[in-house]
Amino acid sequence: MSKHVTHWIDGQPWTGSAERHGDVYDPATGALTGTVDFASVREVDDAVAAAAAAFPAWRSTSLAKRATILFNFRELINSRRDELAAIIVSEHGKVHSDALGEVARGIEVVEFACGIQQLLKGGFTDQASTGVEVYELHQPLGPVAIISPFNFPAMVPMWFFPIALATGNTVIVKPSEKDPSAANWLAALWTEAGLPDGVFNVVHGDKVAVDRLLEHPDVKAVSFVGSTPIARYVYENGTRYGKRVQALGGAKNHMLVLPDADLDLAADSAVNAGFGAAGERCMAVSVLVAVDPIGDDLVAKIAERVAKLRVGPGCSATSEMGPLVTGVHRDKVTSYLDAGLEAGATLVVDGRKHPIDSTSETGIDTADGFWLGPTLFDHVNRDMPIYTDEIFGPVLSVVRAKSYEEALELINSNPYGNGTAIFTNDGGAAAKFRNEVEVGMVGINVPIPVPVAYYSFGGWKASLFGDSHAYGTQGVHFYTRTKAVTQRWLDPSHGGINLGFPTNG
Ligand code: NAD
Repeated sequence: MSKHVTHWIDGQPWTGSAERHGDVYDPATGALTGTVDFASVREVDDAVAAAAAAFPAWRSTSLAKRATILFNFRELINSRRDELAAIIVSEHGKVHSDALGEVARGIEVVEFACGIQQLLKGGFTDQASTGVEVYELHQPLGPVAIISPFNFPAMVPMWFFPIALATGNTVIVKPSEKDPSAANWLAALWTEAGLPDGVFNVVHGDKVAVDRLLEHPDVKAVSFVGSTPIARYVYENGTRYGKRVQALGGAKNHMLVLPDADLDLAADSAVNAGFGAAGERCMAVSVLVAVDPIGDDLVAKIAERVAKLRVGPGCSATSEMGPLVTGVHRDKVTSYLDAGLEAGATLVVDGRKHPIDSTSETGIDTADGFWLGPTLFDHVNRDMPIYTDEIFGPVLSVVRAKSYEEALELINSNPYGNGTAIFTNDGGAAAKFRNEVEVGMVGINVPIPVPVAYYSFGGWKASLFGDSHAYGTQGVHFYTRTKAVTQRWLDPSHGGINLGFPTNG
């Protein structure tokens, strides 16, 4: 064990001695690889103080200079994306190509934010009243907090901080304690890109750090991503302290397959979206709804594909699926296999029996890794825990439906509304689904419909608390507040007392 991850405050690693720590593991080997400092109130206050002190100069920095720093950051991360991907693999466990995909989707948001001059252009109205001009300023909020989950240690913070910084805010990131190193790597890269000290800070830790960020009077906004209970808590508490909050929560994403769909495409897509990143994606497909009569054929095609998946260490080029993030999480996910059987579902593929690429194949000691192979349940119904709970692992549940209407009712009854997809060759059916489904992100023959950076990412219902989605123009809106200016340059003939309410004339 060698690594020690600490906070990044005011342009450098923190040098104090932490009272509490967390453990960091390599999920592929199960080895303890380091520790991460957990912030107390004092360290959070130090990070917020650094962000508050840096704010006046940063908000006054020209858009051209801010964009130049963003371009520098983009070039640096682009040339070193493999390095960042390797860090993600070593703490999260996902396979290297998937980690590169995460980095690429984060870079998209940096590229979007590089166009900040265009995004911050305001309106201007000449002669709103006689001799009166009206316009709006879009001003930054101040220090803002970004609290992120374990499953995308680089991409999720990157959904937020490029836009927060480009719009003139300063940032405190609180990453997941399970895979903390990516945030520090990104912080050091900002310094290299020319970002002034204190504009981007990282504090590590748990509820203590989160609670202090929620209550600290100088933190003006909170962007949170994580599970629904914590998202709700963050939203309720952050707003109670008068902050602007967007809190993205958990998911149970349904993929609806109509009888006319291409079943090979649907089976490939279900496997990709169900088992990529070992199902630890908020946009993973965890429920497949097969409309009669295709269920048997589709389940057979999925089972055939799942059996061939290569499960092994993320750093091995042959692996298609890696381990789960921690032993505790693996055990929790595995417990759902018994729960599904007890509830009467059919266990078509048992992930506990799936071969894991061995040490002799990979050169990595996989014996104590946090493994569970891909698992497929059929004949799942809406009362079973494998349906009602967000499992967040490689477990795909197939629900049979008699009709489109029955399938739609199932999806719309679910408390979550993050992502969904329909597979069909019928444009009319797809359009009907697109309009009727109560979910924030919809794919049509696209299983993981994560919007591109110039749209916005966000679910409905228990998948998002607040009214702003992440990135895109909604991100710009979230990190700015408007100020409407009404001005008149007096001509000498005007003046005089008039106590009436101003009207336009
Ligand atoms: P989590 O809710 O356990 O943790 C998220 C963050 O909250 C972490 O930084 C963690 O340290 C902090 N936290 C944990 N417990 C807390 C508490 N009691 N009080 C205050 N803060 C606390 O989530 P996770 O396990 O890291 O990530 C997986 C979850 O995130 C899944 O539910 C997944 O669906 C969700 N997720 C959602 C999206 C989305 O866009 N909607 C994206 C990615 C992940």
